[in-house]
Amino acid sequence: MLSTNVSIEQKINLPEFEAAGLDVFVKRDDMIHPFISGNKWRKLKYNHLSFLKSCCKGIVTFGGAFSNHIVATAAFCAEKQVECIGIIRGEKPSGINHVLILAQLWGMKLEFVTRESYKSKELLAERWKKEGYFIVPEGGENEDGVKGCEEIITELTHTYNHIFCASGTGCTFAGIVSGIAAQNLDTHCHSIPVLKQGEFITNTVLGYFPKAKNFTVHTDYHFGGYAKTTPELLQFLKYFASQTGILTDPVYTAKLFYSIADLIKKGVFKKGETILAMHTGGLAGLLSEKMLNDVQKSIA
Ligand SMILES: *Cc1c(COP(=O)(O)O)cnc(C)c1O
Repeated sequence: MLSTNVSIEQKINLPEFEAAGLDVFVKRDDMIHPFISGNKWRKLKYNHLSFLKSCCKGIVTFGGAFSNHIVATAAFCAEKQVECIGIIRGEKPSGINHVLILAQLWGMKLEFVTRESYKSKELLAERWKKEGYFIVPEGGENEDGVKGCEEIITELTHTYNHIFCASGTGCTFAGIVSGIAAQNLDTHCHSIPVLKQGEFITNTVLGYFPKAKNFTVHTDYHFGGYAKTTPELLQFLKYFASQTGILTDPVYTAKLFYSIADLIKKGVFKKGETILAMHTGGLAGLLSEKMLNDVQKSIA
């Protein structure tokens, strides 16, 4: 695993960015580890330290059958030699599922629960806590997660006018907003929610930092909702990969880079401004059978 002190910030050379007179950079948190998606590693870092302090016997966490957080936690716990259990939403899938196979290769024990009982996962968590396990919430979203993501900002080697991040729970974004405020930087933070009704990201940020003002949530780049795509998005993913060499995933980071290109096209930024996009990793999201099928159809 790369030490994140090796903070890779590189310029993206796309003709449309240059034509607009804008310098767009990407922070390659996807390079931290092939399966511990950049931001998942950051969210697990302080959760792991809290786990060690707690003297619990293992980690229990939650996620869907295609969750990057499940893959990441399994890989992380194998590396740290921590027993881990993944509570998976819904029936055990009948077909091949790369996320669950990888998680099991790393030694995670899986427990499938009905969608109904998953809704009250706090009750399930209580049960595991009583048995001596440390609970990491779904997506790694808690104070420890936010604290880990604040380090994205302390690592930066340049200051930027804008910083962009794709959001699921909003935990990573909350860390970025707080990190920027803590350093008094004049950087505006932009969240791209990948779910419908992404306004809730504002509440997530304000829940942690009630005074935060330095941010905007762009709610119209979800492409139909979580893990939904359109041929236009997938064609962009291909264009971006072929022009820059940077692979994105259709669930999170393709939506992020698409939104930046679109906002630039709409003339939202001033000439000469600098923009940083967070590549949060998540390549597993590209590799499911369904997603690869959609990609194949869209780029044919
Ligand atoms: C999980 C994930 C996110 C979302 O992070 P949040 O902190 O939940 O908002 C973004 N990008 C990728 C690649 C992810 O795997």
